[in-house]
Amino acid sequence: MAVDTSFDRVRVFQCPSCQEYITTDAERCRFCGIPVDRQASQAEETKQVREENLTKYKGHMFGGIAFFLCGLLGVIFSAAIFFYVRSVGIYVITFGMMASGIAEFSYGYRGWKQIK
Ligand SMILES: [Zn+2]
Repeated sequence: MAVDTSFDRVRVFQCPSCQEYITTDAERCRFCGIPVDRQASQAEETKQVREENLTKYKGHMFGGIAFFLCGLLGVIFSAAIFFYVRSVGIYVITFGMMASGIAEFSYGYRGWKQIK
């Protein structure tokens, strides 16, 4: 469901002939002049996009976990305050953090699983 906009970025891949880095949309290698195999460059581009997306979704998952743990710490902390001081803690805020952490994680996980 996530729209991938990273296709717009300029990508490079290694020329199979001279091993220099050329852009994937080049007609021919600007170093040795051989025509670029469109299928090979497209395949390389797809592979790079996939890897970038994996990294992106992993970032969402780890970010979600970190956020969840912060929220959890907040709950424990506010529970401790409540236990010792008998004042109302900050449950709402930290539960909110935990919920966003879970949402963030599941977004990352779903995207990651789709392309894994
Ligand atoms: Zn070349």
